[in-house]
Amino acid sequence: MSEVLKVVEMFGRNVFNDGVMRDRLPKNVYRKLKKTIEDGAELDPGIADVVAHAMKDWAIERGATHYTHWFQPLTGVTAEKHDSFISAPSDGKVIMEFSGKELIKGEPDASSFPSGGLRATFEARGYTVWDCTSPAFLREDAVGVTLCIPTSFCSYNGEALDKKTPLLRSMQAVNEQALRILRLFGNTTAKRVSPSVGAEQEYFLVDREKYLQRKDLIYTGRTLFGAMPPKGQELEDHYFGAIRERIGSYMNDVNKELWKLGVPAKTQHNEVAPAQHELAPIYEGGNQAADHNQIVMETLKKVAGRHGMACLLHEKPFAGVNGSGKHNNWSLTADDGTNMMNPGDTPHENVQFLLVLACIMKAVDIHADLLRESAADVGNDHRLGANEAPPAIISVFLGEQLEDVIDQLCSRGEATHSKSGGTLKTGVDILPDLDKDATDRNRTSPFAFTGNKFEFRMVGSSDSIASSNTVLNTIVAEAFKEAADKLEKAEDFDMAVHDYIKETLSAHRRIIFNGNGYSGEWVEEAEKRGLPNIRSMVDAIPALTTEKAVRLFEEFGVFTRAELESRAEVEYENYSKAINIEARTMYDMASKSIIPAVIRYITKLAESVSAVKTACPEADVSVQTELLIETSDLLSETKVALAALADKTERAFGLETGKDQALFFHKEVFPAMAALRAPVDKLEMIVDKDLWPMPSYGDLIFEV
Ligand code: ADP
Ligand code: MG
Repeated sequence: MSEVLKVVEMFGRNVFNDGVMRDRLPKNVYRKLKKTIEDGAELDPGIADVVAHAMKDWAIERGATHYTHWFQPLTGVTAEKHDSFISAPSDGKVIMEFSGKELIKGEPDASSFPSGGLRATFEARGYTVWDCTSPAFLREDAVGVTLCIPTSFCSYNGEALDKKTPLLRSMQAVNEQALRILRLFGNTTAKRVSPSVGAEQEYFLVDREKYLQRKDLIYTGRTLFGAMPPKGQELEDHYFGAIRERIGSYMNDVNKELWKLGVPAKTQHNEVAPAQHELAPIYEGGNQAADHNQIVMETLKKVAGRHGMACLLHEKPFAGVNGSGKHNNWSLTADDGTNMMNPGDTPHENVQFLLVLACIMKAVDIHADLLRESAADVGNDHRLGANEAPPAIISVFLGEQLEDVIDQLCSRGEATHSKSGGTLKTGVDILPDLDKDATDRNRTSPFAFTGNKFEFRMVGSSDSIASSNTVLNTIVAEAFKEAADKLEKAEDFDMAVHDYIKETLSAHRRIIFNGNGYSGEWVEEAEKRGLPNIRSMVDAIPALTTEKAVRLFEEFGVFTRAELESRAEVEYENYSKAINIEARTMYDMASKSIIPAVIRYITKLAESVSAVKTACPEADVSVQTELLIETSDLLSETKVALAALADKTERAFGLETGKDQALFFHKEVFPAMAALRAPVDKLEMIVDKDLWPMPSYGDLIFEV
């Protein structure tokens, strides 16, 4: 069979998808289920038994023995608890069972998942609830074949304890308000508007043997020590470079796994840093895209092991080397095919698009702090604002064409033309002339318009995309609502919408920035414009609980105040835990392997000095002596820094968990880690490579 046919057959093979449901479910059940999936109607619990039965038969035919509710608690990774299908034995025999109740509702002992105080430990009940809009799938691995059922995870009182529930709520909110906008322009056919999301995923691959020699990579996902190799990424020869065989065969395997799970993996290439790569699937509905991104991350890791490699999803595995992010491409699409972010060829005439654009600018300007917060995670603190990823300041890039239309509108009151891209001429006769895009790209912008979608580039590579999309959907729902409230009542719609667009664009123009986001001038300029520059996760978290945020999220039923407060609490805790682990890992590595190695080296030097002196008293031993002094000095610097780190970590640990502790970790422990790293990295450059207790940056990133 040809490869091509194999791909077509392979795609979605392990998914209980529409085709399988149509084949296996009675017509009326199938129709009811589709109504929920497509129109958002409430699920009829009466059909659960039939669906569960069909799902079980299908799964068992494919070798499944277990099922699990698959959910995304606030730990940052997915969670699952496997149950086998077997019934209680009767006459020593079992049968395979799976009821509608088991499909719809799970009851994991939730006490050990983070809840930020929403659930006292004595009322540890949590429920997982079937999300039929994200299809169940079969996972094949060492455990066997498992039926995975995507679920929401809530507390006994229905408070969200996960990332999916708020995302689904936000999709409901934006659907309702976006439909109002479409109706304003006479669209009566669209029944539903959903976010379309494509998440480009960056990652690093390192050799597994070497990975296992680095405690920092194992425990924290990033290197906590490490001097730069003589060659870094300055040549930029890795970006889009030819894919080497070992990596190619890995990507091939990853794609096959993903295709089987119905993830439309599409694009793959080498990234800027050596050993860094990217995978992008074709965009899908927001909920599915968020689930699929989790599957992508799991698969990247799992398949790496099979190829003798480790996949690093951390935002900054190597200091001084480009970090990894996730570009969240986002647009709103109606079920009649309308992409609300498509400007068409003449955006100046496309009033609906201009209104949508104005609303998005307003939303992003007003809620820049929330958007920034949605991308905050511990690893991302190393990226945002560090001259390689977008700056920590939120701004919008629109490009020349739209900027010009806005200029016309704001200065002259009306827009009369749109700049076009023109033709690309290469100067080579045999190459065809191409129509150019109306706008060049801007790689430095955190929120860039890219033709028919926005690309939010702040999300960290290891983070779920759910939070960012939840915020995007909700803030835009709010802006749509405010526009619709006003315009639905207008007597002269054309005039009213024109004025509304103009006023909104003028009021929020400060959020547009088309220049170089990495430059120092932008930081100053942004400050003048009053745009927030939130530099770290702990500084970002308070955005969740401002009165503005509570009002927004409560109005659209996305989060209650209690849920927001609990989330902030969980994030502070997650921050403290992560830095604590990093600090302790550093302590461990420095005291148990680095310092002993340096001492061995110093001893060798000292022995050499005295041996040479004994053999030949006139010989010049100044080089060895200087090295001996330099190394000894750095060693004592290390020892001092190590003691300081231990002291700070202990003090942090003594604080009550929550904001104050997180701030202490950020302001005291984190700098103490940097102070320990500095002399150690210098020592790495001096000490005999054979004595250095772990693979170097060079070994890790150039020899995969
Ligand atoms: P880039 O050149 O930005 O790296 P890629 O092809 O790597 O582009 O990724 C672009 C992503 O955007 C893909 O996941 C793609 O499917 C997605 N995308 C394309 N059109 C839309 C759209 N209208 N809405 C949301 N995502 C989209
Ligand atoms: Mg890309």
